[in-house]
Amino acid sequence: MNEVLPQLDELLFSSVEGVLVESVEVTDTAVRIEARTTAGRAACPGCGCWSGRIHGSYLRFPHDLPTAGKLVVVSLRVRRFVCAEDCCPRKTFAEQVPGLTRRFGRRTERLRSTLVAVGLALAGRAGARMTGAFKVPVSRNTLLRLIASLPDPAVAAPRVVGVDEYAQRKGRVYGTVLVDVETRRPVDLLPDREADTLAAWLAERPGIEIICRDRATFFAEGATRGAPQALQVADRWHLWHNLGEAAEKCVYRHRGCLRPTPAQPEQPQEEAEPTASSPWPTGHRFAERTRAKHATIHALLAAGHSKRSVARQLGMTLNTILRFSRATTPEEMFTGQWQSRATRLDDYKPYLDQRWQEGCTNAWKLWEEIKEQGYPRGYASVRDYVSRTLRGKPQPVPATIRPRRHPLDPHPSRRPT
Ligand SMILES: [Zn+2]
Repeated sequence: MNEVLPQLDELLFSSVEGVLVESVEVTDTAVRIEARTTAGRAACPGCGCWSGRIHGSYLRFPHDLPTAGKLVVVSLRVRRFVCAEDCCPRKTFAEQVPGLTRRFGRRTERLRSTLVAVGLALAGRAGARMTGAFKVPVSRNTLLRLIASLPDPAVAAPRVVGVDEYAQRKGRVYGTVLVDVETRRPVDLLPDREADTLAAWLAERPGIEIICRDRATFFAEGATRGAPQALQVADRWHLWHNLGEAAEKCVYRHRGCLRPTPAQPEQPQEEAEPTASSPWPTGHRFAERTRAKHATIHALLAAGHSKRSVARQLGMTLNTILRFSRATTPEEMFTGQWQSRATRLDDYKPYLDQRWQEGCTNAWKLWEEIKEQGYPRGYASVRDYVSRTLRGKPQPVPATIRPRRHPLDPHPSRRPT
């Protein structure tokens, strides 16, 4: 066996200097390699001083790549040296074998690099299944940790950089993503969307010539301060997006100028009626989208999901879900969003006047009543209206004399009194 051992050194540790194989034991399932280090001295990782004073030795058992389908167990004797530098805080240190071991590492470097390659090719779950096939099974988290510990690849400073925000938690936490527009690859992620952070990032890269961004003020400020030499342009997507939104709003505001479509004689009157009451015609993009969202949200709520859970599932904010859940029909959403008229107290004043005349003088109660009808604002404006305007009006008659009448009730006289 002894004359075979030098060849085994060459075979097992061909690219590693300073390791001597002492014995190799092959069983049915595993190959056990006993080896030791041979270098006369080692460099202290604390101060960099070389030392040849041996303090002691111990065994390490790094996992290695399997050989011929068998598990390889390396039993490596390494030494601990005494640091030659008196003032070094690290009095003793363990030697490492370059290309084979690393501090605290439980795998040989070649197994580590193989696992990294598998992780980079297949990522967590698929990679973990593949390592099982190699007979060195590791968990998906181990693979992801190995990838995360790799140093960042060197990226050339971009000439044209795109800046936009991205959501870590939609509606709550946002960061900034920087993209090399010429290679179309992300260059960096910043943890927030502050002007200072962006300015600091840009200041480190003076080669940037063009910054492509949206019109957010924090990006404008950051770009101006961090890269005053660069030309700032609005990116195409945001231009189109903003133009589309502005055009849609403008067309909606001028919908009164549009001539009504002549009624189809063969169409029955009953079918045309529901669309007439809606501010958006059927088939409009906004309207269809809102109707679809409304139906989905109400279906999920009816199925017993909480509002928070619905918000999570649909990727919407909780406030949006609350607004949709309050609206019994999608048409109420159009009113809330597009008719600012309906959010003013003026629209509810006739009703408040009438209730005052009927004898209801409690401002809180009046506010609660119009809130049910869709008034979105707070109590204060109703209180002010009651105290400043209504209190100057003639004393109301007692409520028992006149029954309460809803303004939408077309036949109040038919109601029992
Ligand atoms: Zn030292």
